[in-house]
Amino acid sequence: MEGYKKCPYCGEEIPESATKCMYCTAWLNEPQAATQPQPRPVQPQPQPINVQSQPVRQKNGPGTAGLVLSILGLVLCWVPIANVILWFLGFLFSFIGMFKRPKGKAIAGLVISIVSLVVLIVLFSVLGNALLESDAMDELFNYY
Ligand SMILES: [Zn+2]
Repeated sequence: MEGYKKCPYCGEEIPESATKCMYCTAWLNEPQAATQPQPRPVQPQPQPINVQSQPVRQKNGPGTAGLVLSILGLVLCWVPIANVILWFLGFLFSFIGMFKRPKGKAIAGLVISIVSLVVLIVLFSVLGNALLESDAMDELFNYY
């Protein structure tokens, strides 16, 4: 016995192999699910969560200056006087930049300033030890 199916158009029972409904004369060749999928234009939905966190493109002059000076200070940490001045200016501008937006460069400047400070301290202590151990210090003391 042949199976039966329901005509998707009129609901009457028709043979499984039927390609055309004998009641409503609708063609059954095309499966109903295959109704032309309309190519929908994909519209990128703007994500509402990120709208707030997106900072308005602003310039943070002191922050940028602080970052540049900090990098210079780090690069020139072996230059006496210049290293201290550059470190101080870098730290100062980065600190001022912290109160402006965007803070990215100011924070980077501060981090580099801290690194520079550590480098400077290490450098000075090494230098100091070297001086203490060298005869230069003795000569300096003997001078008085
Ligand atoms: Zn039918």
